[in-house]
Amino acid sequence: MSVFPPVLTQSQALSGLECKRRAWGLTRSTGSASSMQRELRVESRRRLIDAALHLLAPHADRNVEASNGLVSVTADAVEAGRTLFAVRSGASIKAHHIDLLAIQWWTLRTAGFDIDTCLVLHVNPQHRAPGPEPLFVKHDVTRAVRTAAADLASEVQALQSIVTGDRPEPEPGSHCNRPFVCPYFDDCHTGASTDPLSDLYRVKERLLRRLRSTGVTRIQDIPEDFPLPAVATRQRNAIQAGHAVVDSNLSDALDRVEAPVAFIDFEAIQPAIPAWEGCRPFEAIPVQVSIHLVDCDGTVEHHEWIVSGPEDPRSELARLVAPVVSRATTLVAYYAQFENSMLKALAAHADGTNRDALIAANERFVDLLPMIRDHVYHPEFRGRFNLKTVVSALLPDLAYDDLAVNRGDIAGLLLEEYILHGQPADAPARAALLDDLLAYCRRDTLTLLRLVELLRRMSAEPTH
Ligand code: SF4
Repeated sequence: MSVFPPVLTQSQALSGLECKRRAWGLTRSTGSASSMQRELRVESRRRLIDAALHLLAPHADRNVEASNGLVSVTADAVEAGRTLFAVRSGASIKAHHIDLLAIQWWTLRTAGFDIDTCLVLHVNPQHRAPGPEPLFVKHDVTRAVRTAAADLASEVQALQSIVTGDRPEPEPGSHCNRPFVCPYFDDCHTGASTDPLSDLYRVKERLLRRLRSTGVTRIQDIPEDFPLPAVATRQRNAIQAGHAVVDSNLSDALDRVEAPVAFIDFEAIQPAIPAWEGCRPFEAIPVQVSIHLVDCDGTVEHHEWIVSGPEDPRSELARLVAPVVSRATTLVAYYAQFENSMLKALAAHADGTNRDALIAANERFVDLLPMIRDHVYHPEFRGRFNLKTVVSALLPDLAYDDLAVNRGDIAGLLLEEYILHGQPADAPARAALLDDLLAYCRRDTLTLLRLVELLRRMSAEPTH
C-alpha cells in the first residue's frame, strides 16, 4: 500500500467512525456481498432515489460528487448549492444516516459548497397505494448533522493514518451486525479456534463471561455440569460426540405432521414503492409458490406457479393455492410465520370457499425450524438454524450450491426486476430466469419433504 494517505470513500469513512478494523479492511477489498446481489441492490436504490427526488426535489442536481483531499463523497442531490438531500429506503431516520450525512456535509463544505440545510427524504410507512398519504416524507436534520460533524476533521485524519498502518484490533459491538452484517464478522468472531464460545446458541453474556473466567474458550471444553440452556446443552453434547444429537421427544413432535401433508414455500417481492393498489412500502407480496403434496399412501404431487407479468398476481395465486392446501391435513414450512402471512395476504384477495380454505389452512401449520432447533443438533450447524445451514449439514446432496439462484433475498430482488421493471428484457433470458427461480423454490419444498423423512428416521434412534 502507498505511504501517502488515501482519499477515503464515504463508506470507508463511515465505517471508520464505528470500527477502525472494518475501515482498514474496506480500503483493501470490496467486501463480501455477491456481485449479483450488489448490482440488484444498487439498481433498486437508484430507482428509489429517482422517485423521491422526482416528487420532492425535482430541480436538485443529482449524484453530486466532491472531495476535500481526505474524503470523497457522492451526495444523492444538492439544490441551489445550499441544500443537501439524502434519500433513505427505511421508514425512519437512523443514527448511521445522520453520520453519513455529516461526512457528506463536512466534505462538501470544505470542498467549497455553501451547504446550510440537510434534508432526509424517506419512505412513509403510512402510505398505502395510491394514497392519500404521501409516499415520501421530508425531515430537516441540519442540527443533528452539524453536531455529528463537529469533530470529523480530526477523526478522519486519525483514520487515514490507521488505514495505512498494520491491521488494527477488532472493536466488536452491535455495529458488527447492525444495520448490516460486517464483511469481516467471521474473521473477528471466529478467529483460529474451532467451535468458539461465540457460536453457542443464545447463551447470555453473563454465562459466557463465567466460562471465559475459568479459561474455557471452546464449546467442547465446557464442563458437563455447567448450566447451559437446553439447545446449547445439546450443541455442546453434539460437538463433544462429533455427530448429530437427537432428542427422544422428536417422534412426539413429528406426530403433528399428519398426511396428507403440503410442504409449502412462497417467494415474495418487497418493493419500496408499492406496485399494486392497497400495498404499503416494503410490504411482502407473494408472487411465486411451490407445494409438494404428499398423500396418505405416499404419492407425491408437485404444484408450482410463478408470476408472468406486471399485473397484481394475488387473486390468481389464491385461486391456485386454496384448493391444494385445502386437501392437506398438515402444512409444513420452515419459519412458518412467513408462509402464514403469505396465506393471509392471499386470503384478502380470495372469495368464498377459497378465502375460507386459505384462512383455515393457517391453523394447520407445523414449523420445522423450532422442531429442529428444539430436538436436533449437528456439529456443522455452528449455532445457526437457518434452512441452508441445516440442509448443508443434514442433507448435503440437496445443498443449494448447484442452483443459479440459491438465496431467498436474491430471488426476491430478481423477481422484482422481472415483474416491475421488465428485466431482463430479451425473451430467452427471461425464460431462463423463470426456470432458475422455479428450480430454487421447488428445491425448498423438496428439501422440507426430505427433512421430515430424515427426522422420522432419526427419531427412531434418539441419541440425546
Ligand atoms: S466484525 Fe465488528 S469488530 Fe470486526 S471489523 Fe466488523 S465491525 Fe469491526
